[in-house]
Amino acid sequence: MRYLVTGAAGFVGSHLCAALLKRNGTVWALDDLSKGRPERLAPLGRNLRFHFLQGSIAQRLDALAEIIETVDVIYHLAAVVGVKNYVEDPVRVVEVNVCETLALMKLAWSHGKKVVFTSTSEVYGKNNELPFTEDADRVYGPAGTDRWCYAVAKSAAEHICLGYARRGLPVVILRYFNVYGPGADSSEYGGVVSRFISQALADQPLTVHGDGNQTRSFTYINDIVRGTIAAGKRVEAEGKIFNLGSNEEISILQLARLILQLTGKKGKIIFQPYSDFYGPHYEDMRRRVPDTSAAERCLDFKARTPLREGLMKTLEWYRIRIGGGF
Ligand code: UDP
Repeated sequence: MRYLVTGAAGFVGSHLCAALLKRNGTVWALDDLSKGRPERLAPLGRNLRFHFLQGSIAQRLDALAEIIETVDVIYHLAAVVGVKNYVEDPVRVVEVNVCETLALMKLAWSHGKKVVFTSTSEVYGKNNELPFTEDADRVYGPAGTDRWCYAVAKSAAEHICLGYARRGLPVVILRYFNVYGPGADSSEYGGVVSRFISQALADQPLTVHGDGNQTRSFTYINDIVRGTIAAGKRVEAEGKIFNLGSNEEISILQLARLILQLTGKKGKIIFQPYSDFYGPHYEDMRRRVPDTSAAERCLDFKARTPLREGLMKTLEWYRIRIGGGF
């Protein structure tokens, strides 16, 4: 099989490329390297079935048209991700997540190629009817709260995908729930797991936002990759949306304590007001839990990695590489 992966140098994209190559696929990888890191792809560069193309979708439309003609499945992961990015540059969030998705979907449509689009649990917003099923309402706050630009942009992109699906293009939409694992960005633009791990390993206090009672369902990268690959294979998944997430809910404060325990560090936990980190116009969601029964039925997906085990693996990775700047 031949694949195009956009956002290939991102955290999930790089793991997906590695897994597709391992299954004897040929991979065309696109990334503009604005946030993606070439070092994530370095080990794949030696594989003759791996081809890297640098640039954004908008910049490489002609080359992409030629590549798309030859592939079987397009995995569209290229996106602006990371909560701090949403509050700092909403224009870029919309430009990449909506406009570039539209450009890619037009190409996929004109060549009749299957697309797996990676969306996010963020689209449920602050809906508090849990667990979230794929047909749940999306509940967002005011336009003045920049955080919502990501949920709105990803929702708009989902509508583009669903529109093409209605026209007859094979499209699958996946909503990821807080993915973590080796290689995730541990800067302040990354997710909380890698951030807490790097803080703990650097003997810095772990910064818990708010009261720490907000919860998430953290999902290990290998589980996410397995579900994503299944979505590209199963014909019965086409035209549908699936939650890909763990059913293990944990509060951010509990997560901080668990990470300290696993690192064996005596680090401190400090409580940081949201406004100190994200600025004055911010809103968080209190809980986020997926209903994964649709993915279980159709993709044979179950997040198998217990949080403690996934954190141990992640921690080991960072212990070795923390000097490398991740
Ligand atoms: N968070 C935190 N400390 C940090 C980074 C994040 O307490 O240093 C919190 C954040 O406010 C949110 C949760 O951890 O409540 C998950 O944040 P993340 O950015 O990983 O993803 P989100 O689920 O908000 O998209």
